[in-house]
Formats: sequence, C-alpha cells, structure tokens
Amino acid sequence: MTEKILCYSCNKTKNKLNAKRSSLLPINLLMCESCINAKLEPRWIVILSGRQNGMEHVRDFVLKKRYIGNEISASELMV
Ligand SMILES: [Zn+2]
Repeated sequence: MTEKILCYSCNKTKNKLNAKRSSLLPINLLMCESCINAKLEPRWIVILSGRQNGMEHVRDFVLKKRYIGNEISASELMV
C-alpha cells in the first residue's frame, strides 16, 4: 500500500514533495516542485494569513493570484 501525500498547494498526488517554509505563516508546507518553483502558497494559507496579518500582508499573493483554486474575495480575508 502506498501512502498518498498531496501537495498542500495544488492538492495533487506527487511522487516527490518538498518541505518548504511558508512565506506567509510560520509553518512548514509540503509542496511539489512546480508549486514551489511558481512561488505559490496554498490558498488556505493566503486566507489564514490575510485574516491574521491583514490584507496588506497577502496583497501580492491575491493580486498576482499566487495560489491555486477559486479567486479569493475580500470578504474571505475579513474575520
Ligand atoms: Zn503542487
């Protein structure tokens, strides 16, 4: 039985995931190389960080859409 590990960012099963320090929150993420190379952060990290640190903190990620998934709306960033 093979253990399935999903990339935190794109949610796809990959053969190889790398631990990467989040640039938004003080936690380690498991991400695939393509997500790391594209400097993406998981969508929920962007939202969580936006709520904790304010919209300015995640502005770049939201504007440049450096995450995978549905567009993050301003209301999602408000607590
Ligand atoms: Zn990925």
